[in-house]
Amino acid sequence: MTDSNPRVLYTGDNEGPAVMRLQTLIDNFNASGGWQYRHNEEDMRHELDSRGYYSGLHDNGHYLALNLDKFDLQPGPELYDKPGAVARELGGTPIPVPETPAKGRSAFFAWFDETNANAAKTAAGAFMRDAGYTIAHTGGGCLAWEKKADTAPHWSVWICDEGNGLGIEELGEAFQTAAGFMCQLCHDESGEFITGPDSTIGECMSWATRALADVDAMRIETVLANLAEHNGAILNWQVSGDLADAYRQALAAGAIKMESDCYVHPLASRVSDSAWEMPEACTNHRDNGRGICCDCGAVL
Ligand SMILES: [Zn+2]
Repeated sequence: MTDSNPRVLYTGDNEGPAVMRLQTLIDNFNASGGWQYRHNEEDMRHELDSRGYYSGLHDNGHYLALNLDKFDLQPGPELYDKPGAVARELGGTPIPVPETPAKGRSAFFAWFDETNANAAKTAAGAFMRDAGYTIAHTGGGCLAWEKKADTAPHWSVWICDEGNGLGIEELGEAFQTAAGFMCQLCHDESGEFITGPDSTIGECMSWATRALADVDAMRIETVLANLAEHNGAILNWQVSGDLADAYRQALAAGAIKMESDCYVHPLASRVSDSAWEMPEACTNHRDNGRGICCDCGAVL
């Protein structure tokens, strides 16, 4: 997708700082076991192109790579190293990298603009645009249909297909009828996200409309459903980071309670020191308007 080759400043726990071409850094990583955990060449290229920096963990420790050309930064000459060297000690006489890269729209945005233009030509693209959705780059080349909440800053919904794409090319004519879409309500700063249904685009959009209209209600509903699935209570330290804020909010709103380090569903009753249970499922569920039975707490 992107093969631009900017000057990067590379520095790590035990290496650098040194300036080199991105391709040189990638060659060094390929030769020396630089890709650890989830880090890889494709992500490095994407992130340096889109955000301008990339950090990760190398055999030799933590590192940071900064796209100097993106920010038009000019480091001191002592930071220019022999092309190909990672550490100055390995490099010999500092040699400034002479070429200046072509200016203009980056390779990433050339690709992203083209993706937008191609989507706009399709029936599916027009359908989504008319419903208020735009195309978002969600990282690493993944795309989603995005809609922001009008009244809740930083919240938006992403809808994507199973391959973390828009579903236009993959589904074609079946775009509006096929299952296989996923949706999330997400906060762009805290990283909190709430997962919606895996379903058709229409069902995902219905869920999205409800979630965006009342983010707080959706967070409380998610917490109640989660508690019901855990027999009515969950230890506070077992609440995952993604939902921790939602649990605190539900507690503050009085929608759930806390007993003995546990978050507890309002319909749960205590059966021992450390165990709670939900009421027996009733025969005539009454939807509380949010997909949860108000008599038994079942997720409907
Ligand atoms: Zn019920």
